[in-house]
Amino acid sequence: MFHSKEEFKETFRRHLEQRDGKKDHAAAYSVLAGMVRDHVHENWEYTKKLDRQEHKKQLFYFSMEFLVGRMLGQNLQNLKIHDMVEDGLRELGFHLTDLEEMEPEPGLGNGGLGRLAACFLDSLASLEMSGHGYGIRYKGGLFTQHFVDGFQTERPTKWIDETDGWDVRREDLAIEIPFYGEVQISLKDEWSHPTLNNAEWVKAVPYDMPVVGASGKQVNTLRLWQAEPSNQPLPSSKTKDEYLQETEAISDRLYPDDQLDPGKILRLKQQYFLCSASIQTILKNRDFELHEIPEYIAIQINDTHPALAVPELMRVLMDEEGLSWKDAWDITVRTVSYTNHTILEEAMEKWEIRLLRPLLPRIYMIIEEIDRRFKESLESQDMDEKAFHKLSIIDNGIVKMAVLAVVGSYKVNGVAKLHTEILKKRELKELYGQFPTKFHNKTNGITHRRWLLKANPELSELITESIGPEWTKEPERLKELKYFAQSHSFLQDFQAIKRLKKDHLIYHIERTQDIVVNPDSIFDIHIKRFHGYKRQLMNILHVQMLYDRIKRDASYRPYPRTFFFGGKAAPSYHFAKQVIKMINTVAEKVNNDPLAKQHLHIVFVEDYNVSHAEYMIPAAEVSEQISTASKEASGTGNMKFMMNGALTLGTVDGANVEIFEQAGEENAFLFGLRSEEVMRYEKDGNYHAKEIIQQNPEIEQLMEELINGDLTGGKQHGSFIAQQLLDDNDPFFVLEDIQSYAAAHERIVEAYQDSSKWLEMAVKNVAASGIFSSDRTIQQYSDEVWQLQRSLRKTGV
Ligand SMILES: *Cc1c(COP(=O)(O)O)cnc(C)c1O
Repeated sequence: MFHSKEEFKETFRRHLEQRDGKKDHAAAYSVLAGMVRDHVHENWEYTKKLDRQEHKKQLFYFSMEFLVGRMLGQNLQNLKIHDMVEDGLRELGFHLTDLEEMEPEPGLGNGGLGRLAACFLDSLASLEMSGHGYGIRYKGGLFTQHFVDGFQTERPTKWIDETDGWDVRREDLAIEIPFYGEVQISLKDEWSHPTLNNAEWVKAVPYDMPVVGASGKQVNTLRLWQAEPSNQPLPSSKTKDEYLQETEAISDRLYPDDQLDPGKILRLKQQYFLCSASIQTILKNRDFELHEIPEYIAIQINDTHPALAVPELMRVLMDEEGLSWKDAWDITVRTVSYTNHTILEEAMEKWEIRLLRPLLPRIYMIIEEIDRRFKESLESQDMDEKAFHKLSIIDNGIVKMAVLAVVGSYKVNGVAKLHTEILKKRELKELYGQFPTKFHNKTNGITHRRWLLKANPELSELITESIGPEWTKEPERLKELKYFAQSHSFLQDFQAIKRLKKDHLIYHIERTQDIVVNPDSIFDIHIKRFHGYKRQLMNILHVQMLYDRIKRDASYRPYPRTFFFGGKAAPSYHFAKQVIKMINTVAEKVNNDPLAKQHLHIVFVEDYNVSHAEYMIPAAEVSEQISTASKEASGTGNMKFMMNGALTLGTVDGANVEIFEQAGEENAFLFGLRSEEVMRYEKDGNYHAKEIIQQNPEIEQLMEELINGDLTGGKQHGSFIAQQLLDDNDPFFVLEDIQSYAAAHERIVEAYQDSSKWLEMAVKNVAASGIFSSDRTIQQYSDEVWQLQRSLRKTGV
């Protein structure tokens, strides 16, 4: 623990000297991380003690993904020692940012869903609520992306740092998880007692990571489970080697694929592993009666991936604690709540019984019984066949996890107003009819501490100078900034900071990818996972359209723009990988064309992750949020950009709707089909992509270039794209929307050239962004779902 810069420097220097070997960045990082860890651990122990004493209600957030990003900088900031440490290090000849980059990136998530979990943990701790994450300690995080000849290649990522990691192994808290086996029912004291014979046991060992809140005082826990061999006897059907291999696989790597599922059983194992370890731990370490569980515990499941928490809680309450079905069910449905993250049909999780039953026989029995009782309760209702199917948990040989999650929880939420409405009116209509009071909306948020205070300290400082520091605790007070949108001197400062952040990004890209970017060009940024509905294809087709115009028309000299892309495609998602190849192919051509390159530049940032995002978002001027309307549940990237003063170029989809509402439509660039129009097309089947191609010569040219392979480095590399647009009739309405998209781009270029007007719009976006802090989201969850009290802590450590 250190209280002053001199004390910090002294301790740091002493530790560094005590180390053998080179006193390089790696050594300095290691020393600093160790010092911060010690500092955090004191508060962590204190929080745990206080939580026990106060009997506070605890939230457990179950998620298969936690995309936390690097921790050092965030921890320094929340401990309020960031600037002191930075200065101290500088005086000792080190740059804090160099040391921060030594930390391996924990990529324990694919995208938005995992990042949301991380933002929520930050807000919970910062609001001094007792809320903890439960996840899996994947040895390999999300793969590292490299481009080879323009194609995405995937390499395993190692993030675990055995010496300097933030997590602590808790062998003493290990839990045993049963798989396979046969259920035997015996009758004892007139009750039936199921036992699982011949099960295969796996040991779950927790690794605890501290989650430091902004006051530095509340330190919550992110508990990540690691799978290890158990000492229980092995069933005879398996060799020791097979068992060891299968066990290790459970926490070997993050399931990288949200499209196809080659490793179905493994994925299911991971889900049960997480749920069982977490539920068992919670019940084992409680200091209250079983019937009091809903008063002291709330469990939130992040999408359906941890929906097995419902039958697992039932299993433990009945089979291990001896409760009746009725009592166990009453507790379960007052403890678990569920967040739905998507309405894409392919992402609605379903498990085939033939896979689920052998792996989890007792769990399957419980699901069957939940389904049976629910169906029984429907019998008195007059209902058509179709509605009955929609309400079935078990239907046609499959288990529908979303239905299980809704039936087994007390609250169900969508993640943006539009999304929640679509859930209620369409996707989960029948369930909504049965449980109207369960459904509610909680629009996602982002932690302004990482995405503004940490990623953009310069803008944060300007804001504080203008409206005072209260906004850091109450981000909705950013509103007060709107009075500065007309102040010339403020706008100048704001512009200078945007320019500085553009320079930082330029430097970052030069260093990592050896590409030089023109700082005077408009920074137009499209970063997110690659998916058909997110329409990176439309963006690159539009750039190609501009390129074609430049080549065709000697008088067309568009304003210089740099189009940044970043994002990974699931390894088996061939369409998305072809779009990546296409962007790299078009980039190669445009960036090397002596005429075009004065106007257009394409930069594809390799291996998009949280750290890259922290460089890119503060530098952005245009935020590309161009999903097919109705497909993006919320989006959170859109919020990060807005908070950093980028203007949204977006469809009326997900949380864009609320962004436009808050900032004012006149301070954003809307375009494209509305969600009702998309849904009507889908219903009526009267969209015809080929007609659009025939009617529009520019689009026709694009299609020709695509089909003959010009845009993809050869015909064969673009076949999935051409097939989707033509044979599959353009399911994401790229060709329809590209026309209004191009027009919106023209409006952008025009607006940009009126610099004070543009800056005013940008500032109004920042001013309106406070509501998208995840502090607001978490406060709403707490008030309306979890009922957590804030810590009663009066004194700090
Ligand atoms: C915020 C974030 C996302 C989510 O982005 P969307 O645009 O909402 O899809 C994905 N990945 C990373 C690294 C992020 O920081």
